[in-house]
Amino acid sequence: MAIQSINPLNGKRIQTYKEETAKTVGEKIEAGHKAWLKWRTTSFEARGRLLLKAAAVLQQQKSGLALLMAQEMGKPLKDGIAEVEKCASVCEYYAANGAAFLKDQKIKTDARNSFVTCQPIGVVLAVMPWNFPYWQCFRFIAPALMAGNTGLLKHASNVPGCALSIEQVLLKAGFPRGVFHTLLVGSKAVKGIIEHPLVKAVTLTGSTEAGRQVAAQAGGQIKKTVLELGGSDPYVILEDADLELAATVCAQSRLINNGQSCIAAKRFIVVRQVEKEFVRLFKEKMSNKRLGDPLDPATDLGPMSRADLRDELHRQVLENIEAGAVCILGGTIPDFKGTHAFYTPTILTGIKKGMSGYREELFGPVACVITARNQAHAIEIANDTSFGLGAAVFTRDIKKGECIAREQLQAGACFVNTLVKSDPRVPFGGINQSGYGRELGSFGIREFVNIKTVWR
Ligand code: NDP
Repeated sequence: MAIQSINPLNGKRIQTYKEETAKTVGEKIEAGHKAWLKWRTTSFEARGRLLLKAAAVLQQQKSGLALLMAQEMGKPLKDGIAEVEKCASVCEYYAANGAAFLKDQKIKTDARNSFVTCQPIGVVLAVMPWNFPYWQCFRFIAPALMAGNTGLLKHASNVPGCALSIEQVLLKAGFPRGVFHTLLVGSKAVKGIIEHPLVKAVTLTGSTEAGRQVAAQAGGQIKKTVLELGGSDPYVILEDADLELAATVCAQSRLINNGQSCIAAKRFIVVRQVEKEFVRLFKEKMSNKRLGDPLDPATDLGPMSRADLRDELHRQVLENIEAGAVCILGGTIPDFKGTHAFYTPTILTGIKKGMSGYREELFGPVACVITARNQAHAIEIANDTSFGLGAAVFTRDIKKGECIAREQLQAGACFVNTLVKSDPRVPFGGINQSGYGRELGSFGIREFVNIKTVWR
């Protein structure tokens, strides 16, 4: 089977790659294990030095890497450059802090000496998505390699060029051969990789369905998984919110990466008293975006990453309108020349329980506005979801906002008066159908280590 990259701007094939055979994959797993036997004995200083070199290579190559993203998945160049810079920052972060996060911890017991040590576990498989083709990978790579593991990447099939370039960046930085491999394979090959005895754990970022299947396969082998899945993040706008700020942040968050982000705002739950004014401002902010070629510096939103995902999004929009939602902006496939994956920013109001906009993830530039009677009702709606990745609340009462974020919104990350984002310094991950485990921060680097007790 061949793997093809298709430019979502015009539907044209960029390149065709030969899928790797089971034999080659097996050889790479063995090479990864062999490399691990040496890599695990290197010092944190040595690993940190290589991560700093990787950060420097990313900085040097950011224009070329951003161009690859623009071509393979439609991300505007300036956003691609910012993404690569963020990857450099996560390498620098773990180079600076990894050793402290993993240092031995003395524990007072009746032993002469007892302590806990975090030891690397071996080859870890990362199954990654196309929406942030570098960031999703580097937030796995930096902590995993710093901890002394080796990595295998099975990237999404629509970004093979990005996948191969990640291996090249790490080799250029000086990481020994085998410490990191990209495998050009489709999702059907993943089961066999998980079953290989030398693969010790799996991390997946992607849809809930892909997570369910990978977790079941890993569970069958008693192998640990970290799952970062979809979300339908609620943004709650209370009656005392700064509506101008709320509308600006909500539009910014809904349109992050053209709406194709697990932590993009998806459900806008507005207390009735302020709904009319919020919607007016929100529509204004969602409207002034320029769609176009991701290579054009004036472009705000490029095409979506794949035409099939755009078509599925449009189907969801029509289904909600059919069920009674009101489309006050967009809702159309723009009339551009050729085969493309563009979609216009869209707002659906009057979304109610029972409609798919209320319960499903809409992975594109489509906002679902839900009316709440009051604060308690707004929080009840926010939590009435099978997901639980991020959430945000808007209020001028900071104390109340922090209390809602801490105790009432059920999600892995709750932000007050600002948009949910990932940051190398704080843990990232969800609850319920949004997955489990954490990436980033001090928690992320401890996911794939053997937390070992030593007693004498
Ligand atoms: P998928 O979840 O299908 O793809 C993500 C990654 O998982 C890809 O590498 C894919 O490989 C792989 N994968 C898919 N199915 C399996 C499987 N059964 N076993 C092993 N690996 C698998 O996402 P899609 O690209 O199809 O997007 C569909 C929806 O997923 C989106 O609309 C969105 O809702 C959600 N999504 C969420 C993301 C997030 O950041 N949380 C990111 C991307 C998507 P391959 O490409 O070869 O199929």
